[in-house]
Amino acid sequence: MTRTRFRNWSGSVTTNPAAFHYPATVEEVSALVRSLAPGESIRPVGSGHSFTPCAAGEQHMLSLDRLSGVVSVDRGRKRVRFLAGTRLRDVAKLLAPFGLALANQGDIDVQSVAGAVSTSTHGTGIAWTGFAGTVTALTLVDATGTLREYSLDDDPDALRLVTVALGSLGIVVEVEMACVDAFDLLAEEGTDNIDDVLDSWDERTRAVDHFEAFWFPHTDLAMVKNNTRLEPDPGQKGRGWLTRVFEEEVVGNGAFAAALAVGRVAPRAVPFLNGVAVGAMGASTYRSRAHEVFATPRRVRFHEMEFAVPLQAGPDAVREVRAEIERRGWLIPFPLELRSTAADDVALSTSTGRESMYIAIHVPKAMNPATYFPTFEAILRAADGRPHWGKMHTMEREDFSPAYPRFDEFCALREQMDPQRRFGSPYLRGLFG
Ligand SMILES: Cc1cc2nc3c(=O)[nH]c(=O)nc-3n(C[C@H](O)[C@H](O)[C@H](O)COP(=O)(O)OP(=O)(O)OC[C@H]3O[C@@H](n4cnc5c(N)ncnc54)[C@H](O)[C@@H]3O)c2cc1C
Repeated sequence: MTRTRFRNWSGSVTTNPAAFHYPATVEEVSALVRSLAPGESIRPVGSGHSFTPCAAGEQHMLSLDRLSGVVSVDRGRKRVRFLAGTRLRDVAKLLAPFGLALANQGDIDVQSVAGAVSTSTHGTGIAWTGFAGTVTALTLVDATGTLREYSLDDDPDALRLVTVALGSLGIVVEVEMACVDAFDLLAEEGTDNIDDVLDSWDERTRAVDHFEAFWFPHTDLAMVKNNTRLEPDPGQKGRGWLTRVFEEEVVGNGAFAAALAVGRVAPRAVPFLNGVAVGAMGASTYRSRAHEVFATPRRVRFHEMEFAVPLQAGPDAVREVRAEIERRGWLIPFPLELRSTAADDVALSTSTGRESMYIAIHVPKAMNPATYFPTFEAILRAADGRPHWGKMHTMEREDFSPAYPRFDEFCALREQMDPQRRFGSPYLRGLFG
């Protein structure tokens, strides 16, 4: 047990828990929960990459960094059970001996399996769900320190209800996920007119396995990514190390950081810099292992909000955001990220029951998100949007009730499973009561 300071990736959340624990076994997690004194609470944290205080705790916090690795593999059903602290970046290596891979991924891979699942983290691809939709079983330590097992085979409704829970029902210690045969991705990247991209969003998103666009405010241009799944080619070396470092670190992160620095001292240059940034992306085609294409390093710190809106409502919502930026004369030096996913049936998944377009808006760390985000949130909520559970928003329990068909059932389950709020926090009280 070490007293320490918790700080999330963007620096927007800091807390000084009285105790921070790193259990090395599932039994230690149970013992820890059992040892809590009346009135004490504990919050689990993954890699701390959420933009909200969803993981933060004032009393006890716990990391499962020492609970990492594969528990079992059902090669026939392609189901893999992970210890919940496993980082996504380690999964490709762990699955390589079995010829398996994660079905889809987002654009970074430092998150823990439990953290990614618990917030409904997603990538892009209209035929694929986010991580939560691939969960086939889950084990958690409940408020009494008892292990509870949920599985798709035994009780799909129960599993789907507890999967996305932000650590409010217990400490997830194992997660089983439906994986797929390992695959390569052919990445085709370029720039396109944002109006064309929005006008044809539905066609584009269905024409390729994984489509996404980054629109740079104050320009007419978007960087578009079309990723196609291919059988793995053992002879395929992917991008060379030097090319990868140059594209991701020098162009992707270094040049972007430099542009932001200029924009900070000369805000009026932001529209020009955004034009330069999207122009610098240029066209590129390469092929690599899927996980190497999906995830890229993000070294420039920012604040982010993201809403999942029904797929058909997405393009108009982006147009409204664009009009609002221009109307207010705001200078936004970060691109909007636009993605799509399939519907799933996970109770609190942001895509539950509907195909979704994800609209993510970022501002650099030095800008105050509270100046901008509430205005965008109003537009995205009017489009029936649901906020990402790990990103900034102002919605509370009464707002979520109409947004999720099983939300009240989830809150009732929480009341029953954790009446003492062993896993509570002021932030979760706002979300779930
Ligand atoms: C640079 C950057 C890029 C990102 N890209 C994407 C993206 O492409 N797609 C996307 O959807 N999101 C993205 N995110 C958001 C991120 O995926 C989520 O916020 C995710 O939850 C972070 O995982 P984590 O391991 O850091 O979890 P944390 O942020 O540490 O925790 C998230 C939640 O999970 C809970 N939790 C953690 N471990 C456990 C456990 N063992 N048991 C129970 N509950 C637990 C925590 O209590 C908390 O409520 C990005 C974030 C950043 C900073």
